[in-house]
Amino acid sequence: DSLSSLFGDLPEAPKPGRSVPVLVPMPAPGPYSYGVPAGMAVEPGSVVQVPLGPRQVIGVVWDGVSDGVDPKKLRPMTKVFDCPPLTKEMRSFIDWVAAYTLSPPGLVARMALRAPTAFDPEPMVEGVQIGQGQPERLTPARHRVMELASEGFAWTKSGLAHAAGVSTSVVDGLLKSGALETVFMAPPPVVARPDPDFSEGRLDGLQVDAAEELREAVRDGFSVTLIDGVTGSGKTEVYFEAIAEALKNGKQVLILLPEIALTASFLERFQDRFGAKPAEWHSDLSPKMREKVWRQVTTGEIRVVAGARSALFLPFEELGLIVVDEEHDPAYKQEDRVFYNARDMAVVRGRIGGFPVALVSATPSVESQVNARSGRYNLIHMPTRFGDAALPDLHLIDMRRHPPERGGFLSPVLLRGMKKTLEKGEQSLLFLNRRGYAPLTLCRVCGHRFQCPQCSSWLVEHRFKGQIQCHQCGYSEPTPHACPECGTLDHLAACGPGVERIAEEVERHFPEARTIVLSSDMAGGVRRLRLELEAIAKGEADIVVGTQLVAKGHNFPLMSLVGIVDADLGLANGDPRAAERTFQLLAQVTGRAGRSGLKSHGLIQTYQPAHPVMQAIASGDRDAFYDREIMERERALLPPFGRLASLIVSADSRADAETHARGLRAAAPAVSGVAVLGPAEAPLALVRGRHRFRLLVHGQRTSDMQGFLRAMLVNGPKVRGSVHVQVDIDPQSF
Ligand code: ADP
Ligand code: ZN
Repeated sequence: DSLSSLFGDLPEAPKPGRSVPVLVPMPAPGPYSYGVPAGMAVEPGSVVQVPLGPRQVIGVVWDGVSDGVDPKKLRPMTKVFDCPPLTKEMRSFIDWVAAYTLSPPGLVARMALRAPTAFDPEPMVEGVQIGQGQPERLTPARHRVMELASEGFAWTKSGLAHAAGVSTSVVDGLLKSGALETVFMAPPPVVARPDPDFSEGRLDGLQVDAAEELREAVRDGFSVTLIDGVTGSGKTEVYFEAIAEALKNGKQVLILLPEIALTASFLERFQDRFGAKPAEWHSDLSPKMREKVWRQVTTGEIRVVAGARSALFLPFEELGLIVVDEEHDPAYKQEDRVFYNARDMAVVRGRIGGFPVALVSATPSVESQVNARSGRYNLIHMPTRFGDAALPDLHLIDMRRHPPERGGFLSPVLLRGMKKTLEKGEQSLLFLNRRGYAPLTLCRVCGHRFQCPQCSSWLVEHRFKGQIQCHQCGYSEPTPHACPECGTLDHLAACGPGVERIAEEVERHFPEARTIVLSSDMAGGVRRLRLELEAIAKGEADIVVGTQLVAKGHNFPLMSLVGIVDADLGLANGDPRAAERTFQLLAQVTGRAGRSGLKSHGLIQTYQPAHPVMQAIASGDRDAFYDREIMERERALLPPFGRLASLIVSADSRADAETHARGLRAAAPAVSGVAVLGPAEAPLALVRGRHRFRLLVHGQRTSDMQGFLRAMLVNGPKVRGSVHVQVDIDPQSF
């Protein structure tokens, strides 16, 4: 099938000596050959340092034999690091991802090596252990320290003092008398070892069977299981049991989460079950922590990682289970350099490694639904919430019949609901997926619209910051008072709402309520967001106004009302995946309410109450929605029934981009069942001053898309000047 045909059997590993292929972190088509100096021992997977032009770069010794160049003419590698080699499994995975995404393998390998100084062993640290001498006086504090130290381990000074409940000066005193002595010890692990038996799993009813099924899968090698369960059904409890099973079998575990930086409560829950937190992996880690985690994952010291999509490329020593929580989430798609979907690549990694993958969601992607229905994936269905908790009662508010007051965006129906919730001492959440105050500013005299000078997008007003900003490139300027076109002063109008503007309206109606705005651009970054989320969970806010940040995984026990400010927002853009996304987002957000058993409501403001998405949400008839969506995809041969790829051609000039795109199109081979659409201006036609054109390639499910695209790229015009071509296999929007 596709896996083996893309990858095939690898040739024998090279004999050490002479010359070997080395993959360097560059956009080159394959490995380069390097000489192996006498006395240096390398094997495929070894992390090495090699000269490249005038620089020294990190590379990985690759499989296969190098290409017959006279070894004497080759530049020798300069260093081999004392670090576990990338496993065969990891190398196969990197090759597979490169072939599938049509990316240079070196760029994929670079994702596995994102810890620039972690390749050398961590330096030893100073610690203390029991010495030869005797303490002069054995005070109770000293006694406690000596008792711990006599167990025979080395401790860090502060760790020993902490464990004994004394100050470090007590340890210092014992060092001076020789009762303790200084040693060099391996640096302590970043997290303690999770213990599968630390506390008993809590399972109930359906969950018991679900967990048993998943445990069985963990024992059985590669499989994919879709856990499709409503929010609060106990999916997390269930996959914790699979994790326990994998740990008992001596395997490492990876949990992928879409917003890991904000899921402090998840880490605590994990700790309650396993007695230790998982190691975190995401872009907000300090560089030092990154290095430690990378190193300890490769040595096997870290057993469980909870991470963002990039954690998929960590070189685990013996990975045995991947859980992809919120598997439908668009955050799993990376759209930068190597375009990949971490959910799909997790399945590939499981297949190469021969271990199971669990996909988890309350609103699975259409792709995963289809795979579950056809039997390719195991399905675990959990249709009810745990305990007394009921799902919220959902109602559509027809905005044509219940319009907001002039200048406002909240219907009287929603405002009444909020008032009642406030009176009961419970929390409301208003959801609007738009940062800032207003998405568009225009001049009421001449109609001028404020647009980003380097992108085809409007400048969004951020009132707290006193700026208008481009959400594409980050360009900003102070909020203007005069129109640059007609010069009129103070006649600029903010059009449409962002979360800041909704919060303003809320404060007007409920001045006594404690209102919090949550969005990713808040001052104070992730730390501040974590604090705010904790405050909300503790009941320190009455009304929360937030973007999709608040939709993901949080548990707010007092939240009993969710209001969707503009349910139609995501439907307008003409993307065939819009219905699915909107459905998922609305189900996710309304699922924040009533998780602790409070009677709860969801009020959904829409101008299109008859739309199938709105009907599916209001009636709770999920299956009807999926049936219909699957049928439409099948009819149009859209994924997963057909295949798509997009080619984005960008350049400094519009003409260069368009000409190149036309040239690529002309180079498309004639293959029945594959069609090229476009070129047309990309949905974002201008980004950071670069003009963009898009070609869409649409094929049947069995078409060789990669082969087709490769032919276009090879036979098409040479990439020259500022032109850049980006391949996106399985694009998110199409
Ligand atoms: P999901 O992941 O499906 O949203 P969770 O696993 O987070 O569901 O469970 C929802 C809530 O119910 C959590 O607070 C969890 O602690 C609790 N819960 C689920 N199953 C049990 C159980 N068997 N015993 C006790 N509490 C449970
Ligand atoms: Zn811009």
